[in-house]
Amino acid sequence: MTLEERFRAFVNLVPTERGCILWTGHTNRHGYGRISAGSVTDGSKRMILVHRLVLEWKLGRPIREDAMHSCGVHACVNPDHLREATRSENMATYPERGGNPRGSPCKGNRGEKHGMARLIAENILEIRALYADGKTQRQIAGMFGVSRSHIGKIITRKVWAHLDGGDAE
Ligand SMILES: [Zn+2]
Repeated sequence: MTLEERFRAFVNLVPTERGCILWTGHTNRHGYGRISAGSVTDGSKRMILVHRLVLEWKLGRPIREDAMHSCGVHACVNPDHLREATRSENMATYPERGGNPRGSPCKGNRGEKHGMARLIAENILEIRALYADGKTQRQIAGMFGVSRSHIGKIITRKVWAHLDGGDAE
């Protein structure tokens, strides 16, 4: 299978209410999708980040610096939600990442409340919908880059209790 065929096999074809297309394959500890690329034969095989791959396909060239999600959902691979950003722009958008020196969107969450500050109302509804759909709390935590215990609180409405169904706006 080509890289693109393998990519398509792990994409959730039903977009979320916000239009996010969620990656259902492997993710790293921050919820960013990963896929293997290259070949074992010539030693170029490696794991790459799916959202960066999608943005490169969209742009038709390598990304110069960072890939940024406009939706804040790490597992999202909708090209319309991805754009190229400079390191400083990425950090300015997520100040809670605390000026991560390497500027990678993957590294900054470590130890910083697991990125909880970035969850927004739409994410909360999506999290509850995914859980109702049969995803485990651990899987959902990975997709959104937050802790499993935080997902548990969202689902049991210990947090964000005021958000329920249609009143997200
Ligand atoms: Zn999205």
